[in-house]
Amino acid sequence: MNGQRTVALIVAAGRGDRSGSALPKQYATVAGRPMVAHSYAALSAHPDIDTVLVVTGADQFEQLDAALGPVPRVAGGATRRLSVRAGLEAIAAEGGAGQVLIHDAARPFLPAAVIDRLLSALADAPGTVPVLPVADTLAQSGSSLGEVVPRDGLVRVQTPQAFRFADILAAHRDWSGDGEPTDDAQMMRAAGGHVVAVTGDSMLEKVTYPADFAAADARAGARFRVRSATGYDVHRLEAGEELWLGGIRIPHNRGLSGHSDADVGLHALTDALLGTIGAGDIGTHFPPTDPQWKGAASDRFLVHAADLIRQRGGIIDFVDLTLICEAPKIGPHRAAIRSRIADLLAIAEDEVSIKATTTERLGFTGRSEGIAAQAIATVRIPEA
Ligand code: MG
Repeated sequence: MNGQRTVALIVAAGRGDRSGSALPKQYATVAGRPMVAHSYAALSAHPDIDTVLVVTGADQFEQLDAALGPVPRVAGGATRRLSVRAGLEAIAAEGGAGQVLIHDAARPFLPAAVIDRLLSALADAPGTVPVLPVADTLAQSGSSLGEVVPRDGLVRVQTPQAFRFADILAAHRDWSGDGEPTDDAQMMRAAGGHVVAVTGDSMLEKVTYPADFAAADARAGARFRVRSATGYDVHRLEAGEELWLGGIRIPHNRGLSGHSDADVGLHALTDALLGTIGAGDIGTHFPPTDPQWKGAASDRFLVHAADLIRQRGGIIDFVDLTLICEAPKIGPHRAAIRSRIADLLAIAEDEVSIKATTTERLGFTGRSEGIAAQAIATVRIPEA
């Protein structure tokens, strides 16, 4: 760990008692996946963010595992402020950071452009927040409608909020204000730190009440277009090679030969994913003429394709892979391959399908001269 890294903290410790859901809202489904999974994916895919840490309830670790798998986490406190403090102290204990983004899981759709704006504004101030203008008329509430509040000069403050780590940590440690702050910019300002505003995004609307879930689904759906693409690959079986198939090593009397580890399954899947964003094929990104990919593990090719999709704000919805060979039998390895690919793509196992077929001893696969694989990937990509 080093003190210059950029860490993102997702605050996901709430009880969600206003959402009407039995689950805490950060784990309720929005746009097809647990709410916290959306901002986690956006933050981990951003090239300037080194680590993402989730703060969740001490009794919510199982729900976090179900939503995201074994990601870094820390137990939160009784209030939002104490949860953020716990996250900041955990970062400090691991060597600190140069800057930190603090984000509420209740704002699931996080455009990369907002992160870009926040991080570049941090060059000029110790704190920066995304804001949007107020469009609605504001008035005092009560049993009958009260006075209209002038909205000139008012903004709505969103998250993530970005801070120089040492400054926001000190602001939290020194906090002695009355009441509970609703965000971290208030704490930075209370400590005398300057906070600048950058333009927020309507995609970052907070999901709080039951009706917000439907609105968030609609917002997400309107923004994405579904794309599918296929991939196909063949490698030759030869004696004296290890057999890598679908990201795992399978004991067999022969293995696949090629420039990398020749994992046809991961190669077909990589091409399918690259196809969804029109990013060429595996050879475009990892040329077989380049010696650095000699013997390379193909899992890095697959992860690279998934990263390219997430960098565009995309979501991988489903992949399906068919392995075509007479031997080895794939059935005994199906669960391990499925789990490995789900891990590499950071998606759930039920979003991965692994199938196998023989070709009735016909053709090159039937003669066991090689193994073929075909794949299809379905993703959602935000409209430009
Ligand atoms: Mg290949």
